[in-house]
Amino acid sequence: MSYDFISLTADPEKLGSALAESDIVTVAMVLVQLTEDLSLLDEIAGYIKGPWDYSVKMPAATQEEIRARLIETVRAYAEEGRDLPPPPDDATLQRMMSVAVGEPVSDDYAAMMREELALHDADPKGVSWHRDPPQERLDTFHVVIVGAGMSGLLSAIKLQQAGIPFTVIEKNDAVGGTWYENRYPGCGVDTPNHFYSYSFEPSHEWTEFYSKRDELHQYFENCADKYDLRRDIRFETEVVSLRYDEASASWDVSISGKDGAEETLRANAVITAVGQLNRPKLPDIPGLDTFKGGAFHTARWDESADLAGKRVAMIGTGASGMQTGPAIAGEVGRFTIFQRSPHWVISNPNYHRFVSPGKKWILEHLPYYARWYRFQLFWGFSDGIHGALQLDLDWPHPERALNATNDRFRANMVRHMERELDGDPELMAKVVPDYPPYGKRMLVDNHWFPMLKRDNVDLITDTIDHIEANAIVMADGTRHEVDVIILATGFHANRMLWPMEIIGRDGENLSDIWGEDDPKAYLGITVPKFPNLFILYGPNTNLGHGGSAMFHGECQVRYTMKCLRDLIEGDYRTMEVRKEVHDAFNERCDAAHEKMVWAHAGVDNWYKNGKGRVFANSPWRLVDYWAMTEAPDPDDYIVR
Ligand code: NAP
Repeated sequence: MSYDFISLTADPEKLGSALAESDIVTVAMVLVQLTEDLSLLDEIAGYIKGPWDYSVKMPAATQEEIRARLIETVRAYAEEGRDLPPPPDDATLQRMMSVAVGEPVSDDYAAMMREELALHDADPKGVSWHRDPPQERLDTFHVVIVGAGMSGLLSAIKLQQAGIPFTVIEKNDAVGGTWYENRYPGCGVDTPNHFYSYSFEPSHEWTEFYSKRDELHQYFENCADKYDLRRDIRFETEVVSLRYDEASASWDVSISGKDGAEETLRANAVITAVGQLNRPKLPDIPGLDTFKGGAFHTARWDESADLAGKRVAMIGTGASGMQTGPAIAGEVGRFTIFQRSPHWVISNPNYHRFVSPGKKWILEHLPYYARWYRFQLFWGFSDGIHGALQLDLDWPHPERALNATNDRFRANMVRHMERELDGDPELMAKVVPDYPPYGKRMLVDNHWFPMLKRDNVDLITDTIDHIEANAIVMADGTRHEVDVIILATGFHANRMLWPMEIIGRDGENLSDIWGEDDPKAYLGITVPKFPNLFILYGPNTNLGHGGSAMFHGECQVRYTMKCLRDLIEGDYRTMEVRKEVHDAFNERCDAAHEKMVWAHAGVDNWYKNGKGRVFANSPWRLVDYWAMTEAPDPDDYIVR
């Protein structure tokens, strides 16, 4: 495979300075791959103690030597006009991965990582036909995608590449889903951006390691442009119901346009891509509707609201509150934060850092660098943490942590809070959770603790009783008079796919099967009695231990695409998951959750339903889910 080493080496000064701004371990992996000289791995392994680049304690001279050898190597490639070397074998890959993250990576990662690293393939998760389907079969097959957010756009791109006709129905007037809707001050991602992007559409231009909402939204706009998706998207149109028609083996999709005009589309298959977190949940606090000032949810930010100098209340201290609070505390008059229960907060040195020009340049120009960097992020932010979320029955302090590693996380986070709050006993008593780390969604510290120390900020942890025209009133009668209330109170995650009405075979209503809060699906994607319906980011697919929703989305879309390929190539009309397969999967899922932190008795979170069953999160490591969704097993489905 050829690569443009001439451009890479054209400006030696630029290459040298860009390398100096890059991560040395990542550069070392590139060097190993280009030289195929594994001895470097032994030289550097002892210096790498974990998956974080800032933990590397490699002597400066060794770092210099790695950079110099890299420059020499790429020059030789350029001068000799050499092609890239063949990909490493699995054993070498595993060894490289383990050194890159400073801890053993088991061999079950080799296949997944070969794909994720995409060492030689621009789109390894792409799905190709076994044989080209007849054009008339494609012309008469139509897919409706509900939603043009991250998963919906991904599905559209993959259907377009396969030549399968589709229409996307989007309730908003633009693409981007959650990154379009959420505009609260400070809104941004807390998954590393170089991992939070489609694997086949990396961006080397992220301004920050954790970008803000506008840049994320623009990424999706750019994808829609690049793949010319808008002509197949019907904006400001909402799906009201999906109704399966047995006779035609297709779905009737009732949609409602912005002028209220109703229409029914016919679809051979439907992909729902509506997310788990897109229907804001208002708190059930008596009197909220009598409040005379402005009250709005973080995901429905009132951009006309002027908070300067006002008495502002914020109810809720989850991921949205964590970002909103510090972004507005300096501007408002008095800021009163109502916290029902504290979250664990992790500190991340990269969270507020900008990506240097040199690093952007290297990401774009040095072969393999972006892929190895992505892998390091993958490991550090996902499966590397999974073990720490499992209950160790021999661990003596189950009330505060699940196991020794989980307890170490706890101690580190408490130390961070103490440092940030100068050990203030009153605040410490309010902010340290009494449940194990990861029990609720982990938060990344967005200067939260210095905000709490501000003179104009109060953290209230008593119970709210009711709201009046101009005040929030506590159970003990204390009144907090406020002008504006920000509701950072989360989403109706439990009411998955709501408010769409979804009627499957034999008139079965999905909301009757799932009830108020007990959604279940096979692999989170398919449900018995609902043929050719594919759910993205469905039940038990939220990632609570880390990872990237983009990665999971790609697994689900690849699986869905392979289902559609099997349907079309086999000339079948429908495929429906077998009930026993679906039920057995959910039993395995529930059993796996029993030992995990989210099911812990002392934890309240949005992952569990009223009966304590974890319906939102996946209990699996990413590598397990990747393997489960690699391709559909024909035995799991009834095809007709
Ligand atoms: P959330 O995590 O569900 O937090 C809601 C907050 O409101 C909690 O503090 C909750 O308290 C409180 N609350 C809810 N009802 C209340 C009531 N009646 N009275 C008092 N307090 C009440 O919601 P979120 O912060 O919007 O985040 C939801 C999810 O969206 C996150 O977990 C994450 O997956 C995603 N998200 C991601 C990012 C990011 O990438 N940076 C940013 C925002 C959101 P309790 O904890 O006591 O229930």
